[in-house]
Amino acid sequence: MSQVLLARAHDRLGRVVVFAFMSLMATAAAVDAQVATSKATTSAAVATIPPRAIRRDVPVTNSIRRAYAAGTRDSTGRPGRNYWQLRTDYAIDVSLDPATSRLTGKARITVHNSSPDPLRDIGLRLDPNHFLGNAPHAAPWVPAEVTDGMVISRMTIDGKPVNLASNAAPAGDGGSGARAIVAAQQSAANAPTGEAVLRNGRSTAASVRLGTPIAAGASAVLDIEWSHKLPGGPGTGHRMVQRWADTLYQPTQWFPRVAVYDDLRGWDNELYVGPSEFYNNFGTFDVNIDVPAGWIVSGTGVLQNPEQVLTAAARERLTKITSSGAVTTIVGPDEIGPGQATAVGNASGRLVWRFHADTVNDFAWATARKYVWQATRATIPGKGAIPVHMLFLPGRANLFAKAGEISRHALEFYSKLWFPYQFPQLTLQDGPSSGMEYPMVINSNQGAADHEAGHQWWPMVVSNNETWYGWMDEGFNQYMNILSDADAASKAPVFDGLGQSYGRTSGAEAEPPMMWNANYAGPGYYGFTTYQKTPLMLSALGGIVGDTAVQRAHREWAQAWMFKHPSPWDYMFFMNTALGRDLGWFWNSWLFTTESVDARLASVKTQGIRTTVTVAQDGNMPSPIILEVKFAAQGPAIRRMKNSVVTDSTTALVTWPVDVWFGGNRSFTADLVFGGRKIERITLDPSRRFPDRNAADNQWLAVAPTVTPAR
Ligand SMILES: [Zn+2]
Repeated sequence: MSQVLLARAHDRLGRVVVFAFMSLMATAAAVDAQVATSKATTSAAVATIPPRAIRRDVPVTNSIRRAYAAGTRDSTGRPGRNYWQLRTDYAIDVSLDPATSRLTGKARITVHNSSPDPLRDIGLRLDPNHFLGNAPHAAPWVPAEVTDGMVISRMTIDGKPVNLASNAAPAGDGGSGARAIVAAQQSAANAPTGEAVLRNGRSTAASVRLGTPIAAGASAVLDIEWSHKLPGGPGTGHRMVQRWADTLYQPTQWFPRVAVYDDLRGWDNELYVGPSEFYNNFGTFDVNIDVPAGWIVSGTGVLQNPEQVLTAAARERLTKITSSGAVTTIVGPDEIGPGQATAVGNASGRLVWRFHADTVNDFAWATARKYVWQATRATIPGKGAIPVHMLFLPGRANLFAKAGEISRHALEFYSKLWFPYQFPQLTLQDGPSSGMEYPMVINSNQGAADHEAGHQWWPMVVSNNETWYGWMDEGFNQYMNILSDADAASKAPVFDGLGQSYGRTSGAEAEPPMMWNANYAGPGYYGFTTYQKTPLMLSALGGIVGDTAVQRAHREWAQAWMFKHPSPWDYMFFMNTALGRDLGWFWNSWLFTTESVDARLASVKTQGIRTTVTVAQDGNMPSPIILEVKFAAQGPAIRRMKNSVVTDSTTALVTWPVDVWFGGNRSFTADLVFGGRKIERITLDPSRRFPDRNAADNQWLAVAPTVTPAR
């Protein structure tokens, strides 16, 4: 989804101001004084900090250890020789009744057990239960409307009925709800041996206890009939509103989904609590959507029956969209109702739209009584031109004026950056949800089109577990959005400064490490940890190996994990392998801790041709030492040091690897020997890539400044 929506719910500005103020207080003396006089103040402070232990390995948890032992993954970061994942195929018939805003559906789900384990349960995601009044929500995300959740009327497994007592709606208030839940649990517990039982049927994370396990390599067919109301109203936060009155609907998380069962943790039974997103299996979808005639339907996949649901004029216009870059109107604002916007409809005044999608991990759709439908094209390497559809309300055309162009740029740019766009079309759907992604579908206008289109790479193809590791979804996306924005503006992308800026956040006690399950991110930190911190981390990585090397390694990782479920360990170890470096210390600091470097120039002394620079790191994250040395215009010839590059006639960059800190020291003495040319200025971390609370102490000037140096 888009971080703009998150910003409304999380006032991060207040926190940044507080930290900037604290930082100013702590370093006021150092800022006012010159380096020589601040030395005494700061070395006194150093004495109170215990020696640091630099951990250089990536912590390995039991789940990843098991995966390595089983050969499903390995420490090169690639899928292991025994890698497996479940496949789930869906055939769904669903009908929308605008009078009640209710979906009524029938799903046939074929679960292919590709795991080596017999499955005694099937994990289910019943996300409409998020809208029950008593469902757990991550504050401040408030559903738009309290509904009766997902009401399951019938469920069978391989044709045998499943006991649905735990899905029974509580009869009323005053404790009867709790009693009904207890009664349902008892009924489930007392079910006869061999009877399949739905458990936690009023939760977003339910399961079916099977009478007969699904053997390794075998399949089972789950049939579910259900209905639920699509929530409307004002609401707070994202995905909490799925309709505008009774005229526009954006069903998402709308069908009973089979959870992921993976080699790391077995069934994924994390609750859906609002902000954190999803983790889904790949499979085919055949979805038949029954709506009133005149209502246009868009969705994941490719429309299979245009001759039944579209007018001849619309079908004719659709044939033209891939032959030019222009925006074509398929259904205009003046084409309204059956026979105009769509085909005429059946005897009941309805139409069934049939969609098919191969190998996707979700399905979303939208419909409105009056959508304008426009389309343009994007040209995908190896695939040619594909349609980009835009469906929006007639009064909101201005929000879509640039949407085609932005979406085209995103699809074409990211295709070159990572791998070609994998799907046959992309559709932008207007509505209350305006910054959310699904396979081939983005609920977005032009505002978030670049970002949401970026999600077609992750999680739609590289299918990360977004619930636990939102940073592998949103964070990677934020990073590539910087590249795309720069490309669209014909500018160079700017990563300088990003890595350093983390130093101003680091140290907040409420900040969770990125490896912490994002469902339990600390108060106010979901957005920072999930969205904003990853580009800062990758800026720092670029400061070590170069930005293009980061992108090259990331591309190789993405290609290795297409249509699979990589873990963070796969990412870390793949990057180590692809970059040819042991970056354990880097991943450890960035992903498992909230530490920063907090470096400074402690002292600079010149004796003869030698200038001795003492660099201190007060934080627990180490970093390479990079000094930019600015020489006087005149004087003895500049003799290049071995660990330096000369960037122009009076500037050199000198680097010491991060290893100089591995002994636990907090200061390092760097000797600059350049042949005697006078040094006018020394800047530590000139590209501002490494987290630093106070960047004002990173510069030394031969002549004391009359003003505080710029950060
Ligand atoms: Zn997003």
